[in-house]
Amino acid sequence: MQDENCIFCKIVSGVIPCHRLLETDSALAFLDIGPLSPGHALIIPKDHHENILDTPPETMAAVASLIPTLANALKAATGAGGINVLQNTGKVAGQLVDHLHVHLIPRVEGDGLGYRWKPKEYAGGEAEDMAERIVSRIKTA
Ligand code: AMP
Ligand code: ZN
Repeated sequence: MQDENCIFCKIVSGVIPCHRLLETDSALAFLDIGPLSPGHALIIPKDHHENILDTPPETMAAVASLIPTLANALKAATGAGGINVLQNTGKVAGQLVDHLHVHLIPRVEGDGLGYRWKPKEYAGGEAEDMAERIVSRIKTA
């Protein structure tokens, strides 16, 4: 399933070039064209899914299955001390390309990228209420 207007579908089909790093029948990893750090890579499913909200678990698993191999190769190739794995779903979360993608961003000391968001706190009972609301909406196949 491809979307003819989607740039990542065009990368899968080869219409738009990319630097391919690793692939299986159902997932592809390639270099991000606008790297936050050297080696910044993306993993996508070969089928078109917008984001984590419409991606079947088995497709998500196929994408995730590339992470360990790719992460180790990125670390070895860049000398990174660590890697951030990032996935943006929805415009409000920063998603610009509407084809599911997982970012692997190699990190080195002093790269200035930052990573700490300011945590908040639940007031009394709020965590229980929130957990209850979420659990009651979990749909199992
Ligand atoms: P996001 O903000 O999570 O949707 O990230 C989209 C990412 O796709 C950005 O990091 C872009 O640099 C990257 N990107 C957009 N077009 C291309 C392309 N043709 N090849 C590789 N990466 C791309
Ligand atoms: Zn697509």
